[in-house]
Amino acid sequence: MAVKDEGSDRGRNALKGRLMNLILSGDLQELVPVFDPDEGFTYCPVLREMGIRDCEGLDDVLRELTRKGILRAELHDNIAVCGRCGSHRLIIRPVCPYCGSINFNKTTVIEHLACGYSGPETDFKTPSGEMVCPKCGKTLRAIGVDYLRIADIYLCSDCGEFFSLPELKFVCANCGRENSIKDLRIARAYRYRVVPERIRSLEEASFLNEMADRLLELGITVDGPGAKVKGVSGIEQVFTFVIRSPDEPIPVAVIDIVPPGKQLREEDLLRFFAKAFDANAKYWILAIPSPLDERLRDVARRYGITLVESSEHGDLVERLIRMLRELIAGERLLEKDHGTP
Ligand SMILES: [Zn+2]
Ligand SMILES: [Zn+2]
Ligand SMILES: [Zn+2]
Repeated sequence: MAVKDEGSDRGRNALKGRLMNLILSGDLQELVPVFDPDEGFTYCPVLREMGIRDCEGLDDVLRELTRKGILRAELHDNIAVCGRCGSHRLIIRPVCPYCGSINFNKTTVIEHLACGYSGPETDFKTPSGEMVCPKCGKTLRAIGVDYLRIADIYLCSDCGEFFSLPELKFVCANCGRENSIKDLRIARAYRYRVVPERIRSLEEASFLNEMADRLLELGITVDGPGAKVKGVSGIEQVFTFVIRSPDEPIPVAVIDIVPPGKQLREEDLLRFFAKAFDANAKYWILAIPSPLDERLRDVARRYGITLVESSEHGDLVERLIRMLRELIAGERLLEKDHGTP
């Protein structure tokens, strides 16, 4: 029993992983259910085309991704299903609304214009096939001339009642229950849309975590993502990463990483300058996920900000690491220089 649960858990996690890959690669932006006569609304054929064969536990996974804000559920359709078993496979059975019999027939109400009598066609028909008014006994000859067809009605052969519409019963082809319209349940089908802002922040988080790992590999003391430094002003400044020296209270370097898609302006450079200045760090590093124009580069240089630029994530990490290696080496060199007389 426990083994089976573990197995289905593992299957669900694998499914979630595959879905997330499709979402992060941009191949899956919207998941729209298709109606299958056997299965009802299902996402499996769509996912099969994207290489996901086993979609067991999909409903749980979709609910989880929706709860995490990665997907947004939108109402796609409402369908009536069996009140007992939830099956959508329903057979419509019309019955007499008075006695529930299935033994009824459609007939037409006829009005005899000469005497004003109206009644079902069956009352006018004689065994010989002629039409004779049951009230005045005259023979009816031509529709529109001496009689009119007023309406179609139903006549129950069991209870003899007339009715304009039969009652509908919905017989479940799955469990056999005969549902009245009140017994039916409404099942909602959803389409799921990927929330791009959430994906961007996930990508950013994974990028920052990767960055943090790489910085730790350098063998230096790193705080972050989201490191706080108490500034000279007494205000707590926040940076993406702060590199500290084990024996100095002031930070060696403060690093901010600009989120992808953000257009950097001169005010942003000034704000970073003010924070870094207040933090009293030796090096002020700004990593930018898109190349800066020459004018802003010049502004950064004048503020004493070191820029690391690249429009490619992996490359930006590499450039920053390379820059920090040089910086660390430079710091050591400096110490050595101090040591020589
Ligand atoms: Zn009846
Ligand atoms: Zn008549
Ligand atoms: Zn059923």
